Formats: sequence, structure tokens, C-alpha cells
Amino acid sequence: MKKILILTNWKLNGTKKKIKKLIKKYKNIIDKIKNIKIIIAPPLIYLDYTKKKINKINIKLAAQNIDLHLSGAYTGETSIMMLKDIGIKYVIIGHSERRIYHNEKNNIVEKKFNLVNNNGLIPILCIGENYAEYQNNQTKKICIKQIKFILKKTKTKLLKKLIIAYEPIWAIGTNKSPEPREIQKISKYIKSYIYKKHKELYNKTIIQYGGSVNINNFHEIIKQPDVDGALIGNASLNGKNFISMIKQIR
Ligand code: PEP
Repeated sequence: MKKILILTNWKLNGTKKKIKKLIKKYKNIIDKIKNIKIIIAPPLIYLDYTKKKINKINIKLAAQNIDLHLSGAYTGETSIMMLKDIGIKYVIIGHSERRIYHNEKNNIVEKKFNLVNNNGLIPILCIGENYAEYQNNQTKKICIKQIKFILKKTKTKLLKKLIIAYEPIWAIGTNKSPEPREIQKISKYIKSYIYKKHKELYNKTIIQYGGSVNINNFHEIIKQPDVDGALIGNASLNGKNFISMIKQIR
């Protein structure tokens, strides 16, 4: 039975009260389903609070972003050193909302990815095409271009795992998503590219799908043979629905 990696991206949502409630719900499911690993990405300000709340629960934490600098006069930023200091293991890199709203191009994504990896944390790399590219059958080309750019400077031997979230930009928060068989095709293609070019990453590569995952499509998506998990935004914020969705794994 394959292990399913679920990353819940809470984006800019939550309060301490809401987080406490959500963790209670998440705890129920983690105790019941063995072949699942859950990573939560709360807003940065709540990372430490969430960490305290998940004490002794088998849930890991991810940061939604980091700055490129380690310390210094960079008002409003958070560094990889600070994440290390509070015991965070994962960082989301290259999310399309950062690429779009914060103008993070591939060169920034590449620097952040390698900064995380070189400092012993695990980057979760988001890639994906826009709608025009999807319509023009450019998905494979765009995804490989993004991966190639990021990995060209990566010390792949340092990577404990290569986690890639395939997230078509047009599917994020839109209630639209590709057909599960299309997600399978692209996941398989990405894996075979990586295994061909980076043999050392064989069996160390995890492909998640993200983009309007919900209770209706979750099961069909994660049962695809080359899909190892899901990155879930909106649908992870409603505890009851999230539990019903995750229960489908059994
Ligand atoms: C995301 O945040 O990466 C995401 C996939 O969001 P949603 O599930 O809301 O589309």
C-alpha cells in the first residue's frame, strides 16, 4: 500500500481558535489511517503556535515561504535559520501565488529551493502551467522546464526527498482541475524525466497533485499510480470535510 503525503496549505487564513479546532479534527484521522502523512503549512505567524498544538501528534509542519537572506535589515521577512531554530522541517517553494503576487520568477524559486536544501530542510517545489499553456498542450514542457531550472544547481545528494507538487495555476482555488488520468500522465512523465536525469533520486521522488482538490475528486486523484499525495488549500480549512475526504484513503 503506498504512503499518501498530504500537505495542507492554510495560506493567509486562521486564528489561534480556528487552528486549535482544526488540529483536533486532524488528530482523529491521523490516528485511524496508517498509510498517510500530513504536513500543515499555517501562516508563518502561527507556525510556533501550531507546533505546540501538534505536540505528540504525528503531523509535521511546513513554512509557506522564506526569505533569501539569513539575517539582517530585511523588514518583514523570515529566514531559514529562524525556521530551523523553531524546528520546522519543510518549506513550500514556488507556489503560484508567490510567483504571481510576489513576482517570484524561476531564478528566485531556484535560489530558495537550494537554500532550503543546503540547510538541511526539505523543499516542496510547486510547478505547473497556466490555462493557455494547458490548452496548447504545453504542460509537460513547462513542468520540465521549471524542474530543470531548479535542479541545475541542486546538490541532489543532499535531498532527503524530492517533493514536487504539480499544481496547474488555472486549477488553484477555481474548482476546476484536470481529469485524474491527465494528472497521472503528467506525474508519470515528471518521474520518468527525473529518474532518467537524476538516477540518485530514484525512489526518492514524491509527486503530489494540487489545485481544487475536494471531497469529490480526492479519491480518484490519489489512487492514480504515480500520484503520491495531494496539496490541499481551501478544502483543508473545513475540518469536517477534510476528515471525510481523508477517510476515503482507507
Ligand atoms: C494550493 O494552495 O496550492 C491549492 C492547491 O489551493 P486549492 O486547493 O484551494 O486550490
